[in-house]
Amino acid sequence: MARYIFVTGGVVSSLGKGLSSASLAYLLQSRGFKVRLRKLDPYLNVDPGTMSPFQHGEVFVTDDGAETDLDLGHYERFSGIASKKSDNITTGKIYSDVLKKERKGGYLGKTVQVIPHITDRIKEFIKNDTSKEDFIICEIGGIVGDIESLPFVEAIRQFSNDIGKRNALFIHLTLVPYLKASDEIKTKPTQHSVKELRSLGIQPDIIICRSERVIPLEHRKKISLFCNVDIKNVIQTVDVKTIYEAPISFNRENLDTQVLDYFKIKSKKKVNLNPWKKITKIVLNTKKSIDIAIIGKYVDLKDAYKSLDEALTHGGVSNNLKVNLVRIDSEKLKVSEIKKRLKGVSGILIPGGFGKRGTEGKIESIKYARQNKVPFFGICFGMQMAIIEFARNKLNIKKATSSEFGKGGVPIIGLITEWRKDGKVIKGTDKNLGGTMRLGLYDAKLRDNSLIKEIYKSNLIKERHRHRYEVNIAYKDKFENKGMMFSGLSPDNKLPEIIELKNHPWFVAVQFHPEFKSRPLDPHPLFSSFIKAAKNHR
Ligand code: GLN
Repeated sequence: MARYIFVTGGVVSSLGKGLSSASLAYLLQSRGFKVRLRKLDPYLNVDPGTMSPFQHGEVFVTDDGAETDLDLGHYERFSGIASKKSDNITTGKIYSDVLKKERKGGYLGKTVQVIPHITDRIKEFIKNDTSKEDFIICEIGGIVGDIESLPFVEAIRQFSNDIGKRNALFIHLTLVPYLKASDEIKTKPTQHSVKELRSLGIQPDIIICRSERVIPLEHRKKISLFCNVDIKNVIQTVDVKTIYEAPISFNRENLDTQVLDYFKIKSKKKVNLNPWKKITKIVLNTKKSIDIAIIGKYVDLKDAYKSLDEALTHGGVSNNLKVNLVRIDSEKLKVSEIKKRLKGVSGILIPGGFGKRGTEGKIESIKYARQNKVPFFGICFGMQMAIIEFARNKLNIKKATSSEFGKGGVPIIGLITEWRKDGKVIKGTDKNLGGTMRLGLYDAKLRDNSLIKEIYKSNLIKERHRHRYEVNIAYKDKFENKGMMFSGLSPDNKLPEIIELKNHPWFVAVQFHPEFKSRPLDPHPLFSSFIKAAKNHR
């Protein structure tokens, strides 16, 4: 039977609950156990798909096409386990499920209430779609004490009763601040946060204390005493220089040992930290670096391109160099400044994006990369922009555009109303904004004698998609006659998936998002290849 580990947070948000959960998952896996990670988000949006990256960071897409919280990206990158639709839920989705059932008479006219109906639905989610996992780690978003997280905290309290306390473990992550003025470490916020959690009926079994400095034993003892937690289970997590050190640091503080101890389970294997040690060493010690320009609309927010930033770092690791990300706001990029801004960079990347704002700067930057033979990587929207640039400047279709930008012009990029998956035709007929995209894994056939085939070393690939618009295949010959090869197509030959330029050292653009599948211990070949080309560029 699976054991359940619930991770809650206290004091402030952004303490790294996701990273802690993901690191624990790695450690347990490395000890020979089967692990699953899940995220319960307290906000009311039905899924994160329609949330602005400015507010909430990137939308992470799973193999099975769910648009999820970016923490699932951390989970995948650290544990190597592909997340599923059934691994992320929001309050909005819970309520919408319960209300749908109520409308259908599913509650037989009873009064529908938070307890038990909402909490029951949360408990169902926690148990649903598992397959012989040893551990299921569930992270509760937000912090304890938020109005929105109350039903979740109540549900996990009930859940641990339902399955027996010895089969459920509560980890609470808090902040232990250091006050410079008085040169003191303070445990009071942790004490208050645990008091709050206990008032909701949950006694934490392990407290993870995030701190910028080492927490002296005497302070940990204080936390142990006031919070009623064994001193061995007061675990400190001192800020690390790179996130790749996190599994090493948690292991050093015995987090995995204490978890197994709690459940009275013996480790099946010795934990292997060598891959993390290796990658940490490269990230921290490599002197050589290159600059890669990322031109996008959301560059001001750190997490808006989380998976992309990570994938570029992974590409750097596989080439033994540091990648500096030069973030350029496409809306502020003046065409007259492009040459000056891009002169020193070793590679140019246009990421996924939506809407017309800032596109002229992107298109001009692609022209610069094409003409000056600077390695160029276009992702999703980046590929669509590369198509528009080429159409305007090489095919002389001056009004080339995408129908995403409104009526008028020559829409070489248009809305997809149907496409195929596993042989079946899928129709995007839903009028709601959420859930009308081509989402998740789709096959692409790679063409012989192409750069892309050399990179993937395969005829057929599966990558994750998230888009509504598509390059019109009718233009294929026109593009190819001018030197832009459609080197990857959907299996039915209808949808262009990859384009590349023949007379260019590295100009590749893809309709999918390879960044979602890159992992620190297994860098994505496209990113490794792009960084290698950038390294050779200068
Ligand atoms: N806006 C484009 C589309 O919907 C591209 C989306 C993306 O880059 N993820 O097709």
